[in-house]
Amino acid sequence: MSVGPQLFEDIDGVRAYVRKCQAAGESVGIVPTMGALHEGHLSLVRASTAATTRTVVTIFVNPTQFSPDEDLASYPRTLEADLNALSGLAVDAVFHPGPEEMYPDGDALIHVVPSVLDKNLCGLVRPGHFRGVCTVVAKLFNIIPADQAFFGRKDAQQAAILKRMANDLNFPIRINICPIVREADGLAMSSRNKYLNSDERMQAVALSRALAKGKQVIADGEQSSASVIKVMRDCLAEFVLVQPEYVSIVDFDTFVDAETIGPSCLAALAAQVGPARLIDNMQVNGVTGECEM
Ligand code: AMP
Repeated sequence: MSVGPQLFEDIDGVRAYVRKCQAAGESVGIVPTMGALHEGHLSLVRASTAATTRTVVTIFVNPTQFSPDEDLASYPRTLEADLNALSGLAVDAVFHPGPEEMYPDGDALIHVVPSVLDKNLCGLVRPGHFRGVCTVVAKLFNIIPADQAFFGRKDAQQAAILKRMANDLNFPIRINICPIVREADGLAMSSRNKYLNSDERMQAVALSRALAKGKQVIADGEQSSASVIKVMRDCLAEFVLVQPEYVSIVDFDTFVDAETIGPSCLAALAAQVGPARLIDNMQVNGVTGECEM
């Protein structure tokens, strides 16, 4: 009979658990999430259980990465279903703290603030977002001193910033960035897809369709980012329920706009679809013309 993960709501409890595992020679993987788990999250869990002997999944809807006009209050909180989803996956522990456990003063009074990689894309349109993300992940890395952490390329800018943070702040942790998991029609899985009604859900495929169109013209030899962006924007414009926020091609190392399709680029877009703000991206190799969605 499979035993579900051990649930911790307090910092001392999960820290003691992880220390005990490490003292016994176990390696620990951490998978930070905000819950409402789907196959995208579970792919990170599988990567962790394959690479380490103990996996801790954190489920915390982090208030400090939401701005006041965003969806903190309505963000889905589905702990019971999440624990069920994890029960067959060899997850050892779930850390599910309340906001008062993580922020006894309402917020951290000292923050981790990126000074690179956040000037474009989501960092530009969501001021303070990556400060909240970096601060909470730094706290999680200190609470759960794991050997490896697992993030999704679905949030490519976040993953790059966190990798840089771990390096610059000398967290002794290996950061793994895992592929995007998609629905059958191409829509990138996201907890926010739950907000979509059936019409919006059908139109949400616009984001991956636009990337696929971009992929096609790049494979055909297009080198100008502006031209590829136009193709992607034209595709989005065919979907009346989709309001684009940004459509960009950036250098994957710096997240600065790339005028031409260079050897390592990222095509990234964000759009509002009904109540849901959705993002998606693909990795572009301008030398071979290959794109990974
Ligand atoms: P979230 O719960 O949305 O904060 O996401 C937690 C982690 O899951 C982040 O590292 C995300 O990048 C990752 N993730 C979310 N959606 C996907 C997906 N469709 N494929 C792969 N990873 C994902």
